[in-house]
Amino acid sequence: MADKILKKDKAAEALKELSKFRLFAPAKSDDVVLFRQIEDPAEACLDYANSTVPPKKVVFPQTETLFRFKLGNPELREKNVEEEGTTVIFGLRPCDARAMSIVDNLFSWDYEDPYYLKRRELTTLVGMACVTPPSVNCFCASVGGEPFGTENLDLLLVDMGEEYLVKVLTDKGGKLAETIGSFMENAPEGAAAKAEELAGAAREALSRSIDTSGIEAKLPALWDSPLWKEVSAACLGCGICTYLCPTCHCFDIQDEVEDAEGRRCRMWDSCMFREYTLHASGHNPRPTRKERTRNRISHKYSYFPGKFGVIACVGCGRCVNLCPVNIDILEILGKVVEA
Ligand code: SF4
Ligand code: SF4
Repeated sequence: MADKILKKDKAAEALKELSKFRLFAPAKSDDVVLFRQIEDPAEACLDYANSTVPPKKVVFPQTETLFRFKLGNPELREKNVEEEGTTVIFGLRPCDARAMSIVDNLFSWDYEDPYYLKRRELTTLVGMACVTPPSVNCFCASVGGEPFGTENLDLLLVDMGEEYLVKVLTDKGGKLAETIGSFMENAPEGAAAKAEELAGAAREALSRSIDTSGIEAKLPALWDSPLWKEVSAACLGCGICTYLCPTCHCFDIQDEVEDAEGRRCRMWDSCMFREYTLHASGHNPRPTRKERTRNRISHKYSYFPGKFGVIACVGCGRCVNLCPVNIDILEILGKVVEA
């Protein structure tokens, strides 16, 4: 399908039409922007920088019930993700869309996770290109992304001032574009060229970068390096850098039981927590922040690329922006390169 134009004064009507699906869009909650399900287009905040919590939570909820059980009854009442219906995530950043394709590797590897994969199948991703990098700590171009990247997106919107240029990238995106077709018009000649110019300027505007070549091989050789103690000294073990990372995917499974009934839940976990690797014997193979920080960096930049061929970081900058003690992944990687 050819590029389309969605005028900004038609965006609310288009969102209203899309709200017949399970529609998630960036919305303000106090001073924080989060992706949440919206019914009223006025709740959406499309001129945002980036959300504090990445939209991964739509396909991989922070807590979800997998099934319910009852003592003496062998039948499990399993969650039927299909019932959630067609879902649209509208306005996510290209890095966050790319992050989902990285997380896909984990959930379709040795075991195909039916909950996650069904949600992914039901979900259409409508991206919002970063005309201006959302933060000074964005470094997507260093790790395989682009401010106008299209990987894993079905539609891409480019903010052209008074209007959005809408690029249709997949059949799924084409179907969604048809749904809101009456609010759009054909893009005029020259619109794509203008978008290309904006894309070049956005890439130029990224102020931070790292040369990742060789890091994957270098990290295992730095296993005993004193740098891990140095870079983790201030860490509080709060887990923010992992909870709010769009590619982090660790989870715990717990059974909650009351009387004769219970449910099995899955919830986000973090390798930055001491308990994460604590054995029942009391032994902990990652007993201090040093080992946990080494694991976090090595997993993203060495173990995951070794297994799946892609760095498990999309350069969104959240872990840098939101760490309460200003621990900076690019500074750590810089030390790894220098070591
Ligand atoms: S956000 Fe900062 S303080 Fe918290 S666990 Fe991560 S590195 Fe440590
Ligand atoms: S490691 Fe940091 S910069 Fe990389 S994707 Fe995660 S939160 Fe974003």
